[in-house]
Amino acid sequence: MAVNKILPRDDFQRLISFLRTDGYQVIGPTLRQGAVVYEEIQSTSDLPEGWIDLQDGGSYRLERSETSAFFGYVVGPQSWKQFLCPPQRKLLTAEQTGKSFNVIVYDEKPIKRAFVGVRPCEIAAMAVQDKVLMEGPFVDPSYRLARQNAIIIAVNCARAGGTCFCVSMGTGPKASSGFDIALTELIDQHGHRFLVEAGSEIGIGMVTKLALGDASESDIEAGEKAIANASANMGRTLDTSGIKELLYTNFDHGRWNDAASRCLSCANCTMVCPTCFCATVDEATDLSGKCAERWRKWDSCFTVGFSYIHGGSIRTSGMSRYRQWMTHKLAYWQDQFGTSGCVGCGRCITWCPVGIDITEEARAIRHTR
Ligand code: SF4
Ligand code: SF4
Repeated sequence: MAVNKILPRDDFQRLISFLRTDGYQVIGPTLRQGAVVYEEIQSTSDLPEGWIDLQDGGSYRLERSETSAFFGYVVGPQSWKQFLCPPQRKLLTAEQTGKSFNVIVYDEKPIKRAFVGVRPCEIAAMAVQDKVLMEGPFVDPSYRLARQNAIIIAVNCARAGGTCFCVSMGTGPKASSGFDIALTELIDQHGHRFLVEAGSEIGIGMVTKLALGDASESDIEAGEKAIANASANMGRTLDTSGIKELLYTNFDHGRWNDAASRCLSCANCTMVCPTCFCATVDEATDLSGKCAERWRKWDSCFTVGFSYIHGGSIRTSGMSRYRQWMTHKLAYWQDQFGTSGCVGCGRCITWCPVGIDITEEARAIRHTR
């Protein structure tokens, strides 16, 4: 379905306006509190033009770049899961009415959203969450509704971050499917423009309506070169060969205690991870006792309460929690869902306050005793 077109930089606003006119809430990258976050955007002036992110274990910093790229950054602390599977969602309210009570169950209203700037690893993360929340025996109706009403405007990576390892995970830096339109940002002697590839009927319709000009051979070559540059400059690598068996046969490896001695059990790694989906359900009444609410909230395998079963928690040590998280990501997930639970976005490395690095831990388990 490759349709290669060119969108000039100055026409990017046309794309945003077109989506808004078509009834989409346009969500894209913007700057807030020193980070690139995903929020509703109105125009190109909301985009993080000219900013890049420098990332390493436990470290994230924005810096002005030499170019005026809209998408020069890699990924920030947020992922698109906040729109598909929000951090908290009210499930129901129960109100006392005399000697009885009324239960109001909240149904999601469909919101048409256009996600602009979705990275290839993030598309892969959505596909992972689709398997868990939409394609298995238990379907989350609110996730399915949000997913079915979202269109994906992907942006291929022309630059890799310090903690990226999508090449190792086979998820980037070029999107091969799962998008409506994929863009590659080009800035060179021929100007600032976007190579546009349509990936669905919706994408073809958009490209046709925008009446974009054809890409030249040199535009296509420039796009390939930009992506190859990202591919060659991954900040991290992860050897995935036999990783499931490696982890299954190393439950007692000393490295788990080593990681646990540094881990704060803060749960940051699970909050920022675009594939983590665990949730808990809280119920609370108001002070009068006449109204109760039930909420679903993100949870994390790093909390002691997460593994509570009758009589107590089964993962009381930091070692058992870290081992559970990493082994689930890279091994159990394969058995449960037929895919890795990690797409190599690097967020858990960047946003771990003590810089624990899943690639380094896997390497240590593979190469030390
Ligand atoms: S485990 Fe880490 S690198 Fe892998 S998808 Fe989650 S946040 Fe990204
Ligand atoms: S690995 Fe890092 S981010 Fe995850 S819980 Fe431990 S300290 Fe927090």
